[in-house]
Amino acid sequence: MIGAKPAHRLERMQLRSVETCSAFDQLIAKVRACSRCTELPLGPRPVLRGQPSARLLIISQAPGTRAHETGLSFNDKSGDRLRLWLGLDRATFYDEARVAIMPIGFCYPGRDLRGGDLPPRPECAPLWHPLLRRHFAAVGLTLLVGSYAIRHYRPERRRQSLSKILAGWREFLPDIFALPHPSWRTTHWERTNPWFAVELLPELRARIAAALQ
Ligand code: SF4
Repeated sequence: MIGAKPAHRLERMQLRSVETCSAFDQLIAKVRACSRCTELPLGPRPVLRGQPSARLLIISQAPGTRAHETGLSFNDKSGDRLRLWLGLDRATFYDEARVAIMPIGFCYPGRDLRGGDLPPRPECAPLWHPLLRRHFAAVGLTLLVGSYAIRHYRPERRRQSLSKILAGWREFLPDIFALPHPSWRTTHWERTNPWFAVELLPELRARIAAALQ
């Protein structure tokens, strides 16, 4: 009888873990079947990844055409640049048990008249993020990548310029890093803001390594 309690506790924990995984899988299935937005030029194809065990959560913008085609987030040059910033190789970056990637809009939103990507669909994050984030309870560090992610999660900063928000990166610590979108458009910004490479990136890499340990 003395050994019975721990055995019951273990069974209960295992049962809870199975129930949690099953609820998460059901939620992911619902997300993947979502067709809420009717104006997507390539149709709905939610691109997101992660398991409830993930320790690092990357909240990004919206998939581009290559991510839409392959179903893999940051599977392009922007992703290479982001991985360089984070100090992560592809294997670690795409290890869903450790790293979750959840854009503000899960589906490719299309292009504007000048050929740039349209903003992420505004319906998406309010609909799905709260439900998904409940399952990412092990996350110790969240990266807000790009203005849409930063402004969604820090609405009190909406009136500030992105440069000003990024320059105050220490104010988000210890749980959050605010980063620019890693597209070629920010290469000039990075060159003219040397503190990003000299001060922020070493701190970011150290905190990611600690979170993933
Ligand atoms: S962008 Fe989000 S809300 Fe819209 S169809 Fe895709 S998953 Fe659904």
